[in-house]
Amino acid sequence: MLSASSTVIHSMTHTKTWQSEPYWGLGFDFDPQWHLTPAQEALQERLIELCATTLRPNAIESDRGLIYPRKNFEALAKLGLLGLLVPQEWGGMGENHTCAAMVVETIARYGCPSTAMCYVMHLGATAAALFRAADNPELQSVLQRLDRDVFIGTLSYSDPETGSHFWYPVSSRAERTQDGWAVFKKASWTTSAGFADWYIVQTSSPDFNGDYSDLSCFLIYSHEVQAEPQKWDALGLRGNQSGTLLVDGVTVPSDRMVGPKGDGASSNDEIVDPFFLLCSSCCWNGIALGAIDIAKRHTTRKKHVDVGMRVADYPTIQDYVGEAIMDTNAARSFSFSMAKLMDELTNNCDWSLHTQDPGALPRAAHLHWYWQIKFIAAKNVAHVCDKMLHACGGTGFKKDLEIERYLRDGKAGWVMGPTNEVLRQFVGKMALLGFESLDYWNQTVNQRVLHNEIKKLDADGKRQLAAQLLAEAEGTASSKIPVLQ
Ligand SMILES: Cc1cc2nc3c(=O)[nH]c(=O)nc-3n(C[C@H](O)[C@H](O)[C@H](O)COP(=O)(O)OP(=O)(O)OC[C@H]3O[C@@H](n4cnc5c(N)ncnc54)[C@H](O)[C@@H]3O)c2cc1C
Repeated sequence: MLSASSTVIHSMTHTKTWQSEPYWGLGFDFDPQWHLTPAQEALQERLIELCATTLRPNAIESDRGLIYPRKNFEALAKLGLLGLLVPQEWGGMGENHTCAAMVVETIARYGCPSTAMCYVMHLGATAAALFRAADNPELQSVLQRLDRDVFIGTLSYSDPETGSHFWYPVSSRAERTQDGWAVFKKASWTTSAGFADWYIVQTSSPDFNGDYSDLSCFLIYSHEVQAEPQKWDALGLRGNQSGTLLVDGVTVPSDRMVGPKGDGASSNDEIVDPFFLLCSSCCWNGIALGAIDIAKRHTTRKKHVDVGMRVADYPTIQDYVGEAIMDTNAARSFSFSMAKLMDELTNNCDWSLHTQDPGALPRAAHLHWYWQIKFIAAKNVAHVCDKMLHACGGTGFKKDLEIERYLRDGKAGWVMGPTNEVLRQFVGKMALLGFESLDYWNQTVNQRVLHNEIKKLDADGKRQLAAQLLAEAEGTASSKIPVLQ
């Protein structure tokens, strides 16, 4: 029975190679290859070779010297990967969400996690542009330059005043001008800041009236931003260069608004969140796999002469690796199932769907599922890298083995917004109290908390508060605050 099934498994797989030699990590028999089309499998093999020859050597250099991985982007552009999601009629690959998931995972696992994260942001920005490109020649021209000019995009959302609540850009705004818009963006973190060629930035909308759900997105070019890459120094993803960004009242023509005024919340729910959460999850899964690969290579080669055993011969090490593979494949399967769902919802990432019906938001209905895949992948990568370091012993602690780099890179998963603290609370709160209870933009009064606090006041305290509220109401009598039932 056992030998029959292993024959079947063997005949269904082929050998993974690394510079024409058999790969030293896990083979395809532990990869869910059934998600990929033959063309996507062929692309994956070419990409693994590119990782071996180019991306991985550059990763070591990037990590040591805090070097932005532009050389890796040049190599990716040669494979046409910058335009992965761009329709073929615009010179792109016209690929789907599953392919994007595979490419990010492959770059992170075999090549360079920093490059993978910069690429995630590039895909997010590309998707945000594709969402509203149909009637916008400026966006179309950007999308047609991606591979030809190694034209790197990124997303700039985070705000210094609201931390990981990146949907709440209090320090940013836009104003209507005679011919377009004046854009003021202040971001605390932007991957590729100062190195990207174009940025999708989010601000409150022109004519903003204090309602932070009224957001708009703009296309901004490299010469219009101020960045401080010299200040970037971090534990991991050191090539990622996620520094500050300032767009200081730059005047841009009207077609630089991405989508209609006020489209920001729809663009977030339909594009930026789903693409970022899917692809960044694949980055964390790729890092976990990269650490398992290194642990396999090391533990099968290192011998203890006294007992005549390799490290991999100890059952403890086998248990570590077995559990890491199963946990990571659970995270991968979850991510790939969401990629498949996105493919089904959008007829394989057909962007014309949004031209036919600009109100169509098929991905957005599943937002709480994307939250879950990111939480699971980011939680898993930290645990797996830790255990693989343990499996490699003191040798893993040294830089040569590369596992410490994967461990440091993987640590970014938990803290990148939406952070895992925020995500688990979103999911639990939504499940228990409903979606509206999340109150993204701090607009709904929690009557329970309010009454509980007021209960603590004595009569004088209540009078004082009432007087203060009446005085405030004089100035804001027209503001309507929705209340929680
Ligand atoms: C490597 C890297 C790359 C990044 N790239 C980009 C990028 O390209 N574009 C971009 O826009 N941003 C980017 N970010 C920023 C990221 O999305 C977050 O905004 C940032 O990590 C938040 O850091 P902070 O110190 O402000 O955290 P804080 O928000 O101050 O969080 C501190 C702690 O409070 C917790 N916390 C915060 N809010 C809540 C809450 N509501 N409930 C419970 N706990 C909460 C957090 O989980 C955390 O434990 C990047 C971050 C990293 C690490």
